[in-house]
Amino acid sequence: MQVLDTSALLAWPIEKIRDSICSSTQIAELEKVDLNRSLLIETIEINWKVPSSKGLDSAKKAAQESGDLARLSDVDLDILAICFDLQENQSDFELFSDDYRVQNVAALAKMKVKSINTKGVSAIWYWEARCTGCRAITKLNDNPRRGRKGSVMDCDICGSEMVLKKKRG
Ligand SMILES: [Zn+2]
Repeated sequence: MQVLDTSALLAWPIEKIRDSICSSTQIAELEKVDLNRSLLIETIEINWKVPSSKGLDSAKKAAQESGDLARLSDVDLDILAICFDLQENQSDFELFSDDYRVQNVAALAKMKVKSINTKGVSAIWYWEARCTGCRAITKLNDNPRRGRKGSVMDCDICGSEMVLKKKRG
């Protein structure tokens, strides 16, 4: 079985995509990026899945552990959650994604993950929150601000914004 993220749905020939597992929330994402492509994709057999709440919890927990949670989109989390559901059911699958944060979380959970256009993960990266005021460093909490950039949470000590930094060593 193969689980595909949206970059695979955009890049791969239709024959390779058929019968893959995707998140149902990818349809809207695909429509936004490439409407014609989405119309084509909707004509082929794809196993559109909705993750379980348990799978979502596992995905969020793993993403908090690596520190990627603040930078993952809802769709990214759905795809990872579907992989956790498959892992829970002991299904044999491979995840294809070009998003290095998605790859990172999947690798942390010991899933088979492959990239589409990029080189892919060679080592797992950990991220932590650093205060822009008092410079305190902590683990990401379980409900960080999520988005492509910007601060991820507020400092418990001084209240300043905290930013994501790659953990050393
Ligand atoms: Zn602080």
